[in-house]
Amino acid sequence: MSALPGVEENRLVDTHAHQPTSEFLHDAGGEMMQDAADRFGTDLETWDYEEMYAEYDDCGIGRVVLLGWDAETNTGNPPVPNDYVARVRDEYPEFVIGFGSVDPLKDDCIQEAVRCVEELGLSGFKFQQIAQGFDPSADRYDYLWSTIEDLGVPVVFHGGNSTLGACAAGGRGLEIKYGNPMLIDEVAARHPELQILIAHPAFPWEKEQLAICQQKGNVYMDLSGWIPKYIDDQVLRYADTLLQDKVMFGTDYPMIDPETWLDSFERHTDLSEESRRKVLYENAEAFFGL
Ligand SMILES: [Zn+2]
Repeated sequence: MSALPGVEENRLVDTHAHQPTSEFLHDAGGEMMQDAADRFGTDLETWDYEEMYAEYDDCGIGRVVLLGWDAETNTGNPPVPNDYVARVRDEYPEFVIGFGSVDPLKDDCIQEAVRCVEELGLSGFKFQQIAQGFDPSADRYDYLWSTIEDLGVPVVFHGGNSTLGACAAGGRGLEIKYGNPMLIDEVAARHPELQILIAHPAFPWEKEQLAICQQKGNVYMDLSGWIPKYIDDQVLRYADTLLQDKVMFGTDYPMIDPETWLDSFERHTDLSEESRRKVLYENAEAFFGL
């Protein structure tokens, strides 16, 4: 696939990707990931980073934010270790931007967050509040946010519903209320220096998410986890107008592959060329300091 009209080859940044390997899909994912794969209509086949790199290169995507995962306390599944994320980053230093993950329910989460940045050189953190089972606005996590704010790196919070555990009895015990972006509004208000990216159009709370992104200078959003054809019209309209400096491209690889996402973006949306450049790379370059 060639680059989209008006878009510079190889400058695209995918702000949201997971490992196409067993570390994420099988070990950390467990049964709740099988539920998600069933919903996306994919299987949990794995492949290596050479194949991943080739797939991205073919689409003109030069960089990808690769996310760690630690929801061990709430799910009982092992993490995607931060050292592993750093190792992959070291193998593909031009391609991979490594984001760590710490489990806020673990006693050593603060030390691990510091180690991620100071020893492993990771570029930020990913939280998945539904899988991790925590309310980010609760007082007990405030010190974690202050610590990350002081470390000077951005955080990605999950936004909206989750397909993890979808259709399983009791959703495998996961609670979607923790994906409500209103809980992030409080974190953003108390930590104005913390740069926050809310991942995904936050269905069914997209309006709340747009309001927060508009009102909080330190909150952004990405379009990952949804094929553009299915993204709420209002989100796309805001991405083209009021929030054109705040919305970023992301896939949620390997659940959604970059060619499928970009193809739908080209065919099913009509953002101006300027907005498209902002969404596909300019906003991410500014946010991640590339
Ligand atoms: Zn994801």
